[in-house]
Amino acid sequence: MGNKFDAGRRRTTGLILKAVALSSVATMVKIPVAFAQDLPHVEESDATAVALKYLHDATKAERPDKSGVVGADQDCTNCQFIQADAGDWRPCMLFPGKAVAAKGWCMSWTKKV
Ligand code: SF4
Repeated sequence: MGNKFDAGRRRTTGLILKAVALSSVATMVKIPVAFAQDLPHVEESDATAVALKYLHDATKAERPDKSGVVGADQDCTNCQFIQADAGDWRPCMLFPGKAVAAKGWCMSWTKKV
């Protein structure tokens, strides 16, 4: 049981480290809106979504205050990892090949710079 927990924790930690590593290029990469709308939507049941506690509706997530932004003001639209400026569904660097809800949230939320 401990090994299962440790494996999950390692996976989550790895995803967070990946997020941090990608943050430096997040502002340089923008996906055209037309392409973004063609992407399949992330399912909340996807393994990565579960590991990162992603929800389509940010208001249903437990969002701790972070980087001077209160939890209630955090969603995918103001996250460093979002890759489009418009649309209800947008690409996210942590979910390659899929789109997340603009009003979604996950525990890797990072203040957009
Ligand atoms: S908060 Fe949204 S945009 Fe930011 S990493 Fe999570 S799913 Fe991606």
